[in-house]
Amino acid sequence: MNIQNIIGLSREDLITHFEEHNVPKFRVQQVWNWLYHHGVHSFDRMVNVPAAIRQHLQESFVIERPQIATSQASNDGTQKWLLRFNDNQEAETVHIPEVDRGTLCVSSQIGCTLTCKFCHTGTQTLVRNLTSAEIVGQMMVARDVFGEWPSPVGGRHVSNIVMMGMGEPLYNYENVKTALKIIMDHEGISLSRRRITLSTSGVVPMMKKCGEEIGVNLAVSLHAVRNDVRDHLVPLNKKYPVEELLDACRQYPGASNARRITFEYVMLKDVNDSNADAKELLRLIRGIPAKINLIPFNPWPGSSFECSTAGRIQEFANIIQRAGYSSPVRTPRGQDILAACGQLKSASERQRKSKVDSNNTSDAA
Ligand code: SAH
Ligand code: SF4
Repeated sequence: MNIQNIIGLSREDLITHFEEHNVPKFRVQQVWNWLYHHGVHSFDRMVNVPAAIRQHLQESFVIERPQIATSQASNDGTQKWLLRFNDNQEAETVHIPEVDRGTLCVSSQIGCTLTCKFCHTGTQTLVRNLTSAEIVGQMMVARDVFGEWPSPVGGRHVSNIVMMGMGEPLYNYENVKTALKIIMDHEGISLSRRRITLSTSGVVPMMKKCGEEIGVNLAVSLHAVRNDVRDHLVPLNKKYPVEELLDACRQYPGASNARRITFEYVMLKDVNDSNADAKELLRLIRGIPAKINLIPFNPWPGSSFECSTAGRIQEFANIIQRAGYSSPVRTPRGQDILAACGQLKSASERQRKSKVDSNNTSDAA
């Protein structure tokens, strides 16, 4: 018999399974609560579930998380875990503690089909999409590490999620959606959609759907204001140019002044960091409830860009702020362990050898 991981199954799929096996539907609620509120690792712990049903579950499913292959801690408190899945593939998850929150940076793919020039992950061929179990599993492993079961109401070490790890989440849409719905479910992990941000490099046709069906905050990796520059930095721009991307942002469901779209803009010396770029940026985003996150470029072995100077970044930020937008400069975290934005790559000989045809993705660029 095929033993499936029960983690990562949607509530609807679990209900269907129970119906097919004549298990009363209300038991789904109990099992769900044990899995995602209490974080149990075994069916034996589900003490209010009758033994016969536990036995059935045991025969049908396993409760499985990714393994932590290596764990690294930065001197600023950031932790990076290299997680190993049961086919021995690996992806990275990063935890960033801050004064008022703890953010988990979650991966959606192993490698990436896109090849943004400044991104370390982009140098790794796509190996495969992560399953919903592997995406939820990243959150559950973090909760295991911090001992945050049962799901605490406030004061959580893992209070926010950003889908900003390895991969393009909108190229693994269904699994990301299933995973985030599990994470947001009020009877389980219960992270509010307002505390979840999904970052995309600009997969325009999926953005509306994402807003309607998942409803999380959107971050868009803009990085350039002219098509010629963006074509080079984010090659997906050749397919979905700046104007189309910004139209999709304008139409993003649920965007408002209370729920602004974040534009990410990596500061690259002499590439995209002039005052004229800042002014053009303001012109482009007019009418969009937005904040602009300026990301100092994080170097990685072999990268060919330089980060803009601190003075240049500040002047760029000032122009944007004077126009009334919030424009925080993201402090690089975990740089010493290559855990900062764009530095993730689960390179190993095995993965480098493993070349997967990019046709495997739903909408390969
Ligand atoms: N694929 C998605 C999400 C992952 S990348 C996306 O591209 O949006 C998360 C953010 O880090 C993106 O804004 C990305 O452009 C940025 N980034 C990538 N490489 C970087 C680097 N070397 N320095 C700083 N930010 C980088
Ligand atoms: Fe992929 Fe995002 Fe890196 Fe571009 S920036 S290569 S989309 S992970």
